[in-house]
Amino acid sequence: MQVRHLKDLKVDGKRIFLRLDLNVPLKNGNITDETRIREALPTINYLLERGTKVCISSHLGRPKGGPDRKYSLEPVAARLAEMLGREAVFVTDYISEELEPVLHNMTKNQFMVLENLRFHAGEEANDQDFARRLARGFDLYVNDAFGTMHRAHASVEAVAECFPPECRAAGLLVEKELAALGGILKGPAAPFTVVMGGAKVSDKMGVILSLLTKANHLLIGGAMAYTFLKFRGVAIGSSKSEDDKMDLIESIYKTAEARRVSIELPEDHVAAREFVETSPAIATDVLSPGLLGLDIGPKTARRYSRIIEQSKTVFWNGPMGVFEWPPFASGTLAIAKAMANCPGETIVGGGDSVAAVNQAGVAASMTHISTGGGASLEFIEGRVLPGVRVLHA
Ligand code: AMP
Repeated sequence: MQVRHLKDLKVDGKRIFLRLDLNVPLKNGNITDETRIREALPTINYLLERGTKVCISSHLGRPKGGPDRKYSLEPVAARLAEMLGREAVFVTDYISEELEPVLHNMTKNQFMVLENLRFHAGEEANDQDFARRLARGFDLYVNDAFGTMHRAHASVEAVAECFPPECRAAGLLVEKELAALGGILKGPAAPFTVVMGGAKVSDKMGVILSLLTKANHLLIGGAMAYTFLKFRGVAIGSSKSEDDKMDLIESIYKTAEARRVSIELPEDHVAAREFVETSPAIATDVLSPGLLGLDIGPKTARRYSRIIEQSKTVFWNGPMGVFEWPPFASGTLAIAKAMANCPGETIVGGGDSVAAVNQAGVAASMTHISTGGGASLEFIEGRVLPGVRVLHA
């Protein structure tokens, strides 16, 4: 099923309720990373250039129990105004105040921004009354917040449902995400390599099983590699492993065998005696008792890189080690560089892998970097995301 795109809507002169992901990191009221604001600009500009009246909504952080200045979207609205060269009409109270007259009085040079949606319990509760209040006075609904589309929250689902299906559409960023991730689901060019890392195999089980039906190689790194190695009877020293998840690993191997997918595991490691950043890094092939594997070793990184560089499609999620700590970041950075050297399609999903690609300075060489960690994994797992379902044409 296809979602309706912006170009499918007649937007000229209309009043648009626009859901964005402006959940940027803030420190003392200052924005420390503007990526999400910049990524929202194409859709906002598309709409403003067509004489629409735009009302921007988003959540920011996880405020608990009502309004909290620390999570106000006001600094974001101010920055948007600077970037767009227009004036922001910031609306704090959209519960007792009607938005329709505010919209009516807006000039061509203005756009509206609502205060953090999560200041109201109705947002996360997907509350119908809250949604109806938000939707009142608008002609069209546009969602460009891919990172929140797996959540059935009011601004993602109930508000959309207040509009007739032909009056809802995906924004440009969501369109791009669905095309790139949908390509993996439809039929990636072979050889297709999946690189999985991160903390727990149980978190990524659905994605791994779904991708095993399409992949040629599955490269495993991160803490989850130690659960695989333990299953294979390899000594893992004191590394983290999920001993109660051996049945999951067994079903992964069974599926891989039936589909002729090769599962690659680390043959060497960067280890430490303690789980602390300053613990001396020890390069080793064997994890003897007391050693914790905190990164894939150089031999593994070279072998994984060769497979990646010879692939036509690569999907990567999750770091190969504790990459936040420089002594244990080499494996993850090597994967980022191999992705950059791969002439095929390279798709990165998930916050940590995206950070690693940025840290390695190779972001521009990727075919697609997904803005939504959880949403991209659920989508690839084959689940219908609530925010996508309501936009189906
Ligand atoms: P995830 O959110 O599942 O992708 O997991 C990311 C986290 O896994 C990061 O914070 C890493 O530090 C952590 N991680 C990766 N490799 C290891 C490892 N070998 N031991 C412990 N933690 C790890």
